[in-house]
Amino acid sequence: MSGTAAARAVRAIDERREDLVELSLAIHRDPEIAYQEHRAASRLADFLERAGFAVTRGYRGIETAYRGDASGTGPGPTVAILAEYDALNEIGHACGHNLMAMMGAAAAIGARAALAELPGRVAAIGTPAEEGGGGKVALLKAGGFDDVDAAMIVHPNSSRTLVGRHSLAANRATVEYFGRAAHGASQPEAGINALDGVLQLFNAINAMRQQLRPDARVMGIITAGGSAPNVIPDYAQARFSVRALDRAYQQEVLRRFTACAEGAARATGTEVRITVPEEAGYDNMVFSRPLAERWGTHMAALGHPPFDPKDDDRVGSTDMGNLMQVLPAIHPYVAISNDNIAGHSIAFREAAATELAHERALAAAKAMALTTIDLLGDPDLLRRARAEFEERRAGGIVKGR
Ligand SMILES: [Zn+2]
Ligand SMILES: [Zn+2]
Repeated sequence: MSGTAAARAVRAIDERREDLVELSLAIHRDPEIAYQEHRAASRLADFLERAGFAVTRGYRGIETAYRGDASGTGPGPTVAILAEYDALNEIGHACGHNLMAMMGAAAAIGARAALAELPGRVAAIGTPAEEGGGGKVALLKAGGFDDVDAAMIVHPNSSRTLVGRHSLAANRATVEYFGRAAHGASQPEAGINALDGVLQLFNAINAMRQQLRPDARVMGIITAGGSAPNVIPDYAQARFSVRALDRAYQQEVLRRFTACAEGAARATGTEVRITVPEEAGYDNMVFSRPLAERWGTHMAALGHPPFDPKDDDRVGSTDMGNLMQVLPAIHPYVAISNDNIAGHSIAFREAAATELAHERALAAAKAMALTTIDLLGDPDLLRRARAEFEERRAGGIVKGR
């Protein structure tokens, strides 16, 4: 890495500090949920355009995705710096994606400031709908990462900065039962109770649970269960999330879950429909170690040394896992609080708007810009990342393109 390139990147981010914090706070004040992030996406696209990026809005036909490109001195790798900016229903930016938006923009302008002396290209890609909609899955399918050699994004975390950790492979499933309505008191024998299908399904899952691996998660809610107590419900619906640490086992749990749903229909005489949307199928994360270590080295030099990830970390799921199946990528975490606070909580939402959070997130963005500069300027780093990826592909751990 060239010393002047690094200094230029850090200076470019410092110079825009106020605008970057305001960008984050504006998104935080104005939460929009998956695929409805119109104002956030246009704030980010405007910001990149003003900073000199060639911006495509509605990237690959996805309305709230965007891509900003900046080129270096000649042909070379394309490094994608990603941003997420969707909020959660009702509780707003309780996952802190406003900070991810800011970090994506900051790292992109930092890396761009060094492109006068580097080959290749920086692509700032806005990826919508991480919270359940699978924006990265849709972008992958639409070819949005076809020309990308490596990708990175940083997620806010409560009190520990980490170079990476695993996540759970996941699917969403909707299960519907169809029965026959009848007066519950005068003609019960004429009815078929759809709600019983849902209740039997929950019982079957609870019976299965004890025989699952400890990392498996089957979570569900009932979303339709009848209209009046004296009418036998002819329709009932429940929604689930089925997860586990690796895709293969997660698929086995999903298969057993499906058998439970079918068995419940059999037992209650109902008809069942099971819907498992492809876009909401999240792969587990397998992060690039050479890139993650490099990001961690930069974070340490910036005064924020990462913690060692613990194997027993409780983790969620993200569509970044799907991207890691096809190219070397990282998804480190930056601590935005000194206290241990729960994700997806009001406390986390408040933490995502503090001075401390922004200071740490800007450091994380600098570390991403510096890692990008390394990827463009030091062919050995990308070579090592690719070699690790190929080894994993040969071992069936990732699937490749
Ligand atoms: Zn989240
Ligand atoms: Zn998140």
